[in-house]
Parts: sequence; C-alpha cells; structure tokens
Amino acid sequence: MGMDVYGKAPTTDAGEYFRNNVWWWHPLADFLLTTYPDLTEACTYWHSNDGDGLDAATSLALAEAIERDLASGKVAEYARRYEAEVGALPDEECTICRGAGIRTDAIGQEYGYDQPRDPDTGKGGCNGCSGTGRTPAWETHYPFDAENVKGFAAFLRGCGGFEIC
Ligand SMILES: [Zn+2]
Repeated sequence: MGMDVYGKAPTTDAGEYFRNNVWWWHPLADFLLTTYPDLTEACTYWHSNDGDGLDAATSLALAEAIERDLASGKVAEYARRYEAEVGALPDEECTICRGAGIRTDAIGQEYGYDQPRDPDTGKGGCNGCSGTGRTPAWETHYPFDAENVKGFAAFLRGCGGFEIC
C-alpha cells in the first residue's frame, strides 16, 4: 500500500510520478503541512488517496520553498529533530503477547512460541517481540529524511499540479 502522486501536466521526467509507501508518506506530508501551512492549505486530503492535490503555481512555489530549506539545512535539522523525538519514545508492550514474552494461542503452540526464549538457541518466545514482551514505539515505523523531501521537491518542480491517489 502506498501513495501514488501523479503530475497533471509534467514538464520533466521527475514531475510525472512520485511514490512513497505509507510509512514514508505520512511523515513527509506532516513535514509539509507543519512547515509550509500557507502553501499546502489548498489541498485538504494530504493523508489519503482521494485525488486531492495542488495546482501548478502552488506546486512550483512549494518546490521553491523546499529547495530553499534543503539548501539552508533546515530540512536536515527537521530530520534530526524528528529522529531524536522518535528515538526517545519508550518501547511499547508487545501487542501479540501483551507483554508476556510468550504466546499461548494456537499459532504460538504450533511453533513453540509458548515457551520462554532460550538465550542459547534463540528458539522459543513470542515472535512479535523476540520473547522480550516489548517492541519499539509504533512511530519508529515511520521514517523521514531529507533525501525523500528532495525527491518530492524535484517532482513538485516539474509536475504542473498533482493528485494524490
Ligand atoms: Zn510479544
């Protein structure tokens, strides 16, 4: 599952199409919405596949704003802050075993996940958390980096307006 972003009147190869899977798309959309509220407000549905988007002039203005912030290091700074915030989130209780470290359901019994993990063999224990009962915070699944922003800026510059599908 992902977000397919189509250029409406592309003038460059990069402007024809941009794709992020959902894990990459949501942090990117959040970055755009919080950093450029004036330039992004014409599009309501940034987070869904509803065909919403921006016109050619706004896409170009947004591309220029992003490129300016890429050059100044502002995007890299945002990425550092984002990573630090996500990295500081505490681990969560494993949703498969509810923190027990073993799973006693039918699958757990079939595959031996219902026994505590043996530290020597690495066998046993809940397969969702390697038997620890804890998993990284959900937000760690959502990556963000300046390179992805750069790719989207290149798309924006040449797309002639876009739709998120
Ligand atoms: Zn678990």
